[in-house]
Amino acid sequence: MTEIQLFGQTYSLLIKKTVSPVPKGFTVDNSLILQVPEKMSEQMALANFYYSKLRPIVTELTQYYATKLGVPVPKIQIKKVRSYWGECYSRRGLIIYNIELSRVRRELIEYVVVHECCHLVEANHSSAFWKLVFRYCPNYPLYRKELKSIRLTPQL
Ligand SMILES: [Zn+2]
Repeated sequence: MTEIQLFGQTYSLLIKKTVSPVPKGFTVDNSLILQVPEKMSEQMALANFYYSKLRPIVTELTQYYATKLGVPVPKIQIKKVRSYWGECYSRRGLIIYNIELSRVRRELIEYVVVHECCHLVEANHSSAFWKLVFRYCPNYPLYRKELKSIRLTPQL
């Protein structure tokens, strides 16, 4: 049985075909039941499910921290990428989040959001940047280490 992660929890993935054109996913105990439309791949349905779970969380957190930092709320994109958890294009006012963030627990997602939002103020990893990260996320060294230990291999 395939096991997958969602927000730091492990679930057994149960695939059900559906005649509906829209994929749907929900958790029951330790299972994630994924309803996959007949014309859609399981991978696509799962990506859809992760996207719908992650999007509201990173949207809300990004709005929250950008506002705290006194900068305009950036645009957000969620993408399947291999090399980073988040990336900030401060001049364009854009933050890209890795869809794989939906695998990890909420504290780690929040750290990534804080990190990227602080780049809206300090573009590089200067000491001023890390001071700012520390202000909003004092546990960041732990979270940073934990994220580094997770292999960024897409499970999708
Ligand atoms: Zn950075």
